[in-house]
Amino acid sequence: MRQNSQDVIHQNALKIALVTIVFVVPFVINFALSKQWFLSGCLLLIVMMFCFHAWSIIVKRRYYFLVTLLGLTPGVIIYLSYALQYQGFSCVLWFYPVIFLFYYILPERFAWLANMLLLIVLLPQAYYLIEADIFLRVFCTLLLFSGTIIIFVRIVKKQQNELYRLSVLDPLTGLYNRVLLNQRLESSITHSRTHNNDLILLSIDIDHFKRLNSTFGHLRGDAILRDMGVMLKKNITIEGQAFRIGGDEFLILLERHNKQEANDLAELIRCAFIKQASSYEYQVTISIGIACLEENENAKILMHRSDKNLYKAKHSGRNQVVTF
Ligand code: GH3
Ligand code: MG
Repeated sequence: MRQNSQDVIHQNALKIALVTIVFVVPFVINFALSKQWFLSGCLLLIVMMFCFHAWSIIVKRRYYFLVTLLGLTPGVIIYLSYALQYQGFSCVLWFYPVIFLFYYILPERFAWLANMLLLIVLLPQAYYLIEADIFLRVFCTLLLFSGTIIIFVRIVKKQQNELYRLSVLDPLTGLYNRVLLNQRLESSITHSRTHNNDLILLSIDIDHFKRLNSTFGHLRGDAILRDMGVMLKKNITIEGQAFRIGGDEFLILLERHNKQEANDLAELIRCAFIKQASSYEYQVTISIGIACLEENENAKILMHRSDKNLYKAKHSGRNQVVTF
């Protein structure tokens, strides 16, 4: 589930990055037009860091939160400090969205650190710009805001993780479902083209599963599907992800492995299933079709080819692997 919560953080960071880029660029231009070069330059650097985040999340599927912590946080604080001196106390209004942003795109303990840093560095400067009673009110609301935002973001992130988990996991087997497969395939194709890696799909289907259901009942069928999920998780020792994409249909996505490794894995899984099924009251086997991404292919065609090989395996007598 670590992968899922990372996905949530990535999605949050990507959305925040895109919104901030769109929102901040007009200020960069405005400051440049009014020849406030330092403010414009600072904001431009901040925009560039957000562009870097957007690029790394979309292309590399990584979020370098240290760039936020060590680059963006001091950058924003320096910018606000300078803006306070030149534009006055009204800049304090920016503290609120910035604090919110910290909690949204940084792990909580670092967000807390960034939040404290911002208040410790900037509040003393703000103190000299306004009367004490107004400052006190601002100080109290900032503390209250910081406290409530911690609770709010914690609840939202927890719910987001749970919703995401429910939307991408198959409840019976605990494997990923077709929703996540569709998202993953697109990004895996981009990734494999950028890095020149093989992208391989293994389509797996249980043989004569209907017969098994009608002979031993749906509940027994469910138990076998669950066993299949456990067996796949246990046997995918190389880097790959398993999905349940339909009734008795499963799929493995391999991103950093060659055809031989994919073939070996398919045989390993087929044999492991037979071994596991030897304890069942009924002989059960699986068939597997494999396809490797070709140039100019999209996700749909790749899946169609691995399905075609699966059906070749079915028509050649089942309990076998058909490759490429
Ligand atoms: P083949 O060897 O050609 O694959 O034959 P098959 O009988 O396995 O045919 P198919 O793969 O089309 O059948 C899938 C069956 O899986 C149909 C449906 O009754 C059953 N099924 C679908 N979802 C579930 C489920 O959640 N639990 C159980 N027990 N059965 C399911
Ligand atoms: Mg089947």
